[in-house]
Amino acid sequence: MIFIVGGGVVGLHVGIALAAQPNHPEIFIVEKEQFLGDHTSGRNSQVIHAGFAYPVGSLKARLCLEGNALSYEWLKKLNVPHMVCGKWIIAFTPEEVPALQKVLEIGAACDVPGMRETRGDEVAKAEPSAHRFAGAVFSATSGMMDAAEYIRALERYFLAQENCYLLYPCEVAAIDPVKQRITTTRGEMEYATLVNAAGLFADDVYRMCGGTRAFRIKPFKGEYYVWKKGQIRSMIYPVPRRYLPGGGQDKRLVSSMGIHLHRDTGGQLFVGPTQVELDWDRKTDYSFVTPREEFVRQAAQYAPVDDAEAFEQAYAGNRPKVYEDGKPLGDFQIFREGAHIHLIGIESPGLTAAPAIARMVAGMV
Ligand SMILES: Cc1cc2nc3c(=O)[nH]c(=O)nc-3n(C[C@H](O)[C@H](O)[C@H](O)COP(=O)(O)OP(=O)(O)OC[C@H]3O[C@@H](n4cnc5c(N)ncnc54)[C@H](O)[C@@H]3O)c2cc1C
Repeated sequence: MIFIVGGGVVGLHVGIALAAQPNHPEIFIVEKEQFLGDHTSGRNSQVIHAGFAYPVGSLKARLCLEGNALSYEWLKKLNVPHMVCGKWIIAFTPEEVPALQKVLEIGAACDVPGMRETRGDEVAKAEPSAHRFAGAVFSATSGMMDAAEYIRALERYFLAQENCYLLYPCEVAAIDPVKQRITTTRGEMEYATLVNAAGLFADDVYRMCGGTRAFRIKPFKGEYYVWKKGQIRSMIYPVPRRYLPGGGQDKRLVSSMGIHLHRDTGGQLFVGPTQVELDWDRKTDYSFVTPREEFVRQAAQYAPVDDAEAFEQAYAGNRPKVYEDGKPLGDFQIFREGAHIHLIGIESPGLTAAPAIARMVAGMV
């Protein structure tokens, strides 16, 4: 039996990829919460990333690029609302313009299709309410999905496969890695292979499996506001901070794309996410700490704001950033130890990369 811990987008895709293998054994996914996607998979920007924002040769870059194409296939197949709207990456000041070149260079080195410098007043025509920026790059394969609907559709698809089971709420409380036996809040089971797709809690599950590396996951909070009167039509991002002078030194920035504006598939305009470092044990702290004025200030960099009251608190999610021996690793950690396959540090672009991660795991089983 194959046992998957975690019913987020990654656990569900892994289950589906394993169910596509001929003569597969029984596959169980267990999720400790009352709802699937209650943690990171239901608390993100819902952006289908193109793959230019990660170090060349990293797992994030490779799996994001592959996951981008696969995600569009799955979204179409499952009839999930999505848009291939593209993304503007902008330089606010002339000093930031050289970093746009870096975006294009990394995009080219990572084989990301559809990236180009913008010409003339292209951004102004597409986004007439926005300020004039010092420069911009367009990424044509970036898009937007309805992540909550995606989770529900993946759940239905998985359950329609033979010998596939999903239990929630059902928490894995203990694992005996020698007897390959798992204790859950709903009883005990034996497994041949266990996949650890536990998101923010993947370090705890790693230790339960007898793992000895000193992984720890630190939550970094991202908060969002809705800008009710904002007129921005699609998606505008700042140039990644790690491409600005000195920014590449900090591995924690690898997945922080900066505070941006995006319109979701339901038509609401969001400002966010912030990046707030939390204490190790505050993985499920989704309270707001950043004041509304900061969201207004950030939004005003992109377009004029005439009414601060039009900004409303939306939601927050926590990025599962993986550290080893106290140092941030900055990339997905995907590896096998005995009967256990671990997926640790699956922060952004994990929503996009999920079907590619699943393909990789299927190759390891
Ligand atoms: C602010 C923010 C913005 C983001 N924006 C984007 C974006 O725009 N595009 C993108 O591609 N990615 C984005 N991401 C990243 C993306 O959301 C995640 O990489 C992805 O959702 C991870 O999915 P997961 O299944 O690994 O984790 P999760 O969704 O957290 O699922 C893991 C599940 O395991 C369960 N679990 C844990 N321990 C146990 C246990 N002992 N027993 C049973 N169940 C257990 C948890 O309850 C949880 O539901 C963003 C993330 C954040 C925080």
